[in-house]
Amino acid sequence: MVLNSTREGKEPQEAQNARHFVPFVVAQAQFGILTGMIEEIRSILTKIGEDPTRDGLAHTPQRVDRAFRFLTSGYRMNADDLLNKALFDVAYDEMVIVRDIELFSLCEHHLLPFFGKCHVGYIPNGRVIGLSKIPRLVDMYARRLQVQERLTTQIADTINEKIHPRGVAVVIEAQHLCMIMRGVEKQNSVAVTSAMLGAFKDNQNTRSEFLDLARHPK
Ligand SMILES: [Zn+2]
Repeated sequence: MVLNSTREGKEPQEAQNARHFVPFVVAQAQFGILTGMIEEIRSILTKIGEDPTRDGLAHTPQRVDRAFRFLTSGYRMNADDLLNKALFDVAYDEMVIVRDIELFSLCEHHLLPFFGKCHVGYIPNGRVIGLSKIPRLVDMYARRLQVQERLTTQIADTINEKIHPRGVAVVIEAQHLCMIMRGVEKQNSVAVTSAMLGAFKDNQNTRSEFLDLARHPK
């Protein structure tokens, strides 16, 4: 089974909140320690030589504060809450692939975005994960400060721990603004990382089948 990831349906509550003003008290309850970045962001604006009181920047600290809370909302989610009600006993034992999951994350070295696509495959061993939960799992780990390598293995390890499949494969292809914008690498360079567990690690044919289906769809 190969599923192309689509993003429809209800937007997560935290995403909705992030686009609207969250009163301080509500924010404090929802986001815990992550309140009070507004002063620090205003200070950064001053230190880069800007005037934080000018029209265009007057509300920037609040916006950046909300944006950062959303982009790091994965810290306030966990895999148990996300997946536990979406694990099912199913006799299906062929490869399941969710391909082309959009991915947006922040590199932990520069706090700049990296973005691309994630392909996830696994071979069930009596249990499956609800298909819509796989992109949510990717989001949960992507909405943290990351390096692409760790993000890749966290997704694979979590699926492995949750349903003990015969194998898990995760491939991420991403472009890093910290490389592109700073001119470190060519504009179109793509970093590719993979995590292969179980049958995908042990069996060349299984691995090849996954890579063919995920990266070179017929
Ligand atoms: Zn970076």
